[in-house]
Amino acid sequence: MQDSFIERNKEGGIGFSFDVKAKLHAEQTPYQSIEIYETTKFGRLMVIDGCIMLTDRDNFLYHEMMSHPVLFTHDAPKDVLIIGGGDCGTMKEVLKHDSVTRVEQVDIDERVTRLSEEYFPDLCASNDDPRASLHFVDGIKWIKDATPESYDIIIIDSTDPVGPAEGLFTAPFYRDCYRALRKGGIIVQQSESPLLHMYILEAMHRDLKASDFSSVATVFFPQTVYPSGWWSATMGGKGRNVRSYRESDARGKSFATRYYNADIHRGALAMPEFFRERLAGQD
Ligand code: SAM
Repeated sequence: MQDSFIERNKEGGIGFSFDVKAKLHAEQTPYQSIEIYETTKFGRLMVIDGCIMLTDRDNFLYHEMMSHPVLFTHDAPKDVLIIGGGDCGTMKEVLKHDSVTRVEQVDIDERVTRLSEEYFPDLCASNDDPRASLHFVDGIKWIKDATPESYDIIIIDSTDPVGPAEGLFTAPFYRDCYRALRKGGIIVQQSESPLLHMYILEAMHRDLKASDFSSVATVFFPQTVYPSGWWSATMGGKGRNVRSYRESDARGKSFATRYYNADIHRGALAMPEFFRERLAGQD
């Protein structure tokens, strides 16, 4: 019989299964368990604490939508901080923007990056870019100690809000991010499934607004291998409307993408009715 890896999502009462050829690696780090599989149809698969992180086949959806919407929303992004993102896929997309002069990636767990270098070399292809630096500490501490007004964009590419990532989904953390952003700066955070985790999205919108982000908007996108297959990222602007973006720059982008383009960006900002209703009254 074919071996399988199954992520069971108790909250949603669902599961997602891959046919696997082999388990390539498994270890317990001080922070989490990491497993790598070779699947039959989706290439390699990384799993952290039993949750699917990424596959070779579909990670472009998530990594492009965590990076290009926020970068084309900012007027002139130069200094970018990524919290989490240890697989380096988001950083690779950020570095495609010529205006960017510095990207600091802060992941709590160095092992995620070292295993990505070994098993997902394509995602790590830009790690030696002179604009990039990798740091392995808790993002909550990093942002507390950050120089005020030192970043244009902060991207929170974390695991789910349990374990080490829990504190990344809180108002005190958002306030520290606000302080670390320049005027016109933008935070973006992976905000889980609109179908399964509306309570997380609702709290994120409320807490970002309470932390003085004047404009908050969510982009929606497919993410085949995450629970429900539908995912989101939420942006907060420091004195900047995050519903408008540099559309002509996005249309004329100088680099290749597989999912993101100017029309996808516009469509991703459209709000489903149930979402609009749940957020009504927050403003
Ligand atoms: N795309 C993924 C998803 O949504 O399932 C996230 C990928 S990335 C591998 C998530 C990273 O967040 C992990 O490498 C983990 O070590 C990191 N992380 C979790 N909590 C963190 C924290 N407090 N500070 C910095 N990194 C953290």
